[in-house]
Amino acid sequence: MTYVHAQWGTSKHGTPAGFSRHQVLGQDACEACTAAKKAYDAEHYKRPEIKEAKRLQSLAKQRAFARLREAHPQEFGVLYEEEKAKLVANSA
Ligand SMILES: [Zn+2]
Repeated sequence: MTYVHAQWGTSKHGTPAGFSRHQVLGQDACEACTAAKKAYDAEHYKRPEIKEAKRLQSLAKQRAFARLREAHPQEFGVLYEEEKAKLVANSA
């Protein structure tokens, strides 16, 4: 039990930090931590400066992705087909 406590440090269940701790430990988060993270995110992403930062981040990703695809069309095609096959296999 001491070992488990040491893994958690000062993080507590039912908090966003607890959610992150579950992730670091490779665990599925418990219900309390999942609810705390969801509530935190809902408030966090309502903030205008966060919305704008996310919008710019998304636009930059789209543009970088388009440039990468254009620069390496064959590699992109191979990766695309591999990922598509994985998704199809996982949904079966
Ligand atoms: Zn938890």
